[in-house]
Amino acid sequence: MTKRVLVTGGAGFLGSHLCDRLLERGCDVLCVDNFFTGTKQNVAHLMDNPLFELMRHDITFPLYVEVDQIYNLACPASPIHYQFDPVQTTKTCVHGAINMLGLAKRVKARILQASTSEVYGDPSVHPQPEGYWGHVNPVGPRSCYDEGKRCAETLFFDYYRQHRLAIRVARIFNTYGPRMHSNDGRVVSNFVVQALKGEPVTVYGDGSQTRSFCYVSDLVDGLIALMEAPDSLTGPVNLGNPVENTILEIAELILAKTGSRSEIASKPLPADDPKQRQPEISLAKSELGWQPTVPLDAGLDKTIAYFEKTLG
Ligand code: NAD
Ligand code: UDP
Repeated sequence: MTKRVLVTGGAGFLGSHLCDRLLERGCDVLCVDNFFTGTKQNVAHLMDNPLFELMRHDITFPLYVEVDQIYNLACPASPIHYQFDPVQTTKTCVHGAINMLGLAKRVKARILQASTSEVYGDPSVHPQPEGYWGHVNPVGPRSCYDEGKRCAETLFFDYYRQHRLAIRVARIFNTYGPRMHSNDGRVVSNFVVQALKGEPVTVYGDGSQTRSFCYVSDLVDGLIALMEAPDSLTGPVNLGNPVENTILEIAELILAKTGSRSEIASKPLPADDPKQRQPEISLAKSELGWQPTVPLDAGLDKTIAYFEKTLG
């Protein structure tokens, strides 16, 4: 039987790639999005597919549809966008999770939460294993997202314990690739766009802070592997690429790859910016047989090619 799959946030960066992959696998895909950061353009190529349906809806309001699986990705992911309307960000995380969990309970669907490495905050344990409880400021500018996502995880595990719901929680680390919003402020898209336009590449702080970047196709493979895993694997499971780089290294690599003459401009470090981040992925390796396969070099080439095309 054809699997009916709901993807919330399906018109966003990760969601649109997930919709692509689910359709390739023969699923019937319902993409729900309020287009806050996602666009119809991201899924325009799917509109003629009879197995694809697009619905404008805000998940802070209830939704009743018959589906077998739910991927809950709806939530702005970049600091600029999630801090634009922080109350709505918390509502999307918390009310959105309650609505989607209620739906999953009602229709007996399996449900996966797109959680985040931000639940670890500015980590004092490095690299971060799933057992680390995190170091999060509850009242800072990033808290609407970090604490919203932490509360969503709590709700997922309470629905699991209280209602025996089939849950999956993925903790996604920094992911990049084509269809990132060109001005959402995330580091890879920012640097590529700035380099291609010949504008200064804005390194916040001294650029010594680290992140570990996963290419989008690898991440989507991980999400599907987790959804298809046995019910005993609730997670949380870290999904990300453990290869760690400083932000200055990323800036220099992108400048070299684009052949740009842009200068590096130093800007103040935003409040509560985590100093380091690297996923510990032994759980995903052993339980899902998953690990990233696309090196940063190849992933950046594809991302640069995408922005070269879209920026004209
Ligand atoms: P994105 O901003 O491109 O996608 C989010 C999508 O959700 C957008 O299409 C947006 O319009 C939609 N949305 C936001 N609020 C909504 C609401 N209330 N109702 C319905 N739709 C809503 O971001 P992304 O990078 O694709 O992230 C997708 C998910 O993955 C998010 O939940 C994010 O927290 C998580 N995540 C992403 C990363 C990453 O590096 N990309 C890292 C960790 C976690
Ligand atoms: N960053 C930067 N310049 C930019 C955008 C981001 O130096 O133009 C830095 C940012 O301060 C952070 C890192 O890059 O240390 C990753 O930022 P992003 O917003 O992409 O992700 P997150 O901080 O949520 O991991």
